[in-house]
Parts: sequence; C-alpha cells; structure tokens
Amino acid sequence: MMNRKKALKALHDEIASCTRCSLHTSRTKAVPGEGPLDAKVMFIGEAPGAQEDMTGRPFVGRSGSLLTEMLNEIGLQREEVFITSVLKSRPPRNRTPHRDEIGKCMYFLDNQIEIVSPKIIVLLGSVAISSVIGPWRLSEAHGRFHEAKGLTYFLTYHPAAALRFPKTRALMHQDFQKLKAELR
Ligand code: SF4
Repeated sequence: MMNRKKALKALHDEIASCTRCSLHTSRTKAVPGEGPLDAKVMFIGEAPGAQEDMTGRPFVGRSGSLLTEMLNEIGLQREEVFITSVLKSRPPRNRTPHRDEIGKCMYFLDNQIEIVSPKIIVLLGSVAISSVIGPWRLSEAHGRFHEAKGLTYFLTYHPAAALRFPKTRALMHQDFQKLKAELR
C-alpha cells in the first residue's frame, strides 16, 4: 500500500496528464486541487476558470479571493483546507460541465476524498451538489449538513454566484457561520 502522501501525488500526476474526456484538448493546465493531507475540511467547486487554467491552481481568481475572505471570517486559513472542484480541466468559455465529463472525472474526486478523508466536505454550488450527492434545489439545500455513505457534507452557494448577487452573498455568509459552529 502506498502511503497517503504518495497516493495523492500519484493521483495529481495522473490528473495533470489526463485525457479521459475531451476537455483535455482545450485546457492549458489541469487543476488537481491543493491542500494538506490532514485537512479537516474539503471545499469542492464546479470547474477551473480562466486563471485556474493558466496557473494550474484552484480558486485563484475573484471567486478564490472571496472564498479566502469567507474562510478567514470563520477562522480558517486557506492553507489548512483542501480546495478542489468536480472537473479538473476548464470547460471552454466556462460553460456548464457536461454529464459525461463529470462521469469521467469523478474518479479523481472520489479518490481525493478517500485519501484526504476530511471531517466535512463543503459542496459549493449546484454542480458540486448534484454531482456528489444528487440533485437538490440550492434554495432549499444551502446551509444544510447532509450525511451519506459515512461522509458529512455541507451545502452552500458557489462564490461566483455570491459575486454576482448580493443576496446570495449574504446567504453564503450566513451558511459559513453554521459551518463555523460545527467546526468548534
Ligand atoms: S476534466 Fe477530468 S476527466 Fe476530463 S480531461 Fe480533465 S482531468 Fe481528465
């Protein structure tokens, strides 16, 4: 058995050269995600955007700044959480991920969850929620914890939506307070 560190490195190397779905033809860099092996919380977004595609790092654009700000507000540092997304390669013009792309890429996320084994998995937005635990209206799902297959999920909005809609941003701040209470 490989140790966890080696297993995660091998998985991320596999992502970097992955050709499982057609998105590999248009991406610049695949974005495996990053964070410590012993992270208590894992954040899962939708897919890399332009800046992530250029740098190979998750949540480095405006959404990333807002996520970092929200983490800090509840006493978490970005460096202590694991951050990734459902898809590891950018869809052209940031279009919504296709079902078959999600199906092919899920293997990587499943393995990341198994290796890191976080206490809480935060699903950011409807694509993350529907891909990982199934369809659920975000207006009903947000701010809730959900247990499935021995894992604990927390459901909230995607920071990109919070950047567009002040109302969503306010709700996301409230959701993060619930997350904070659970992490105490
Ligand atoms: S999105 Fe996932 S499955 Fe598709 S090429 Fe990228 S890493 Fe591979």
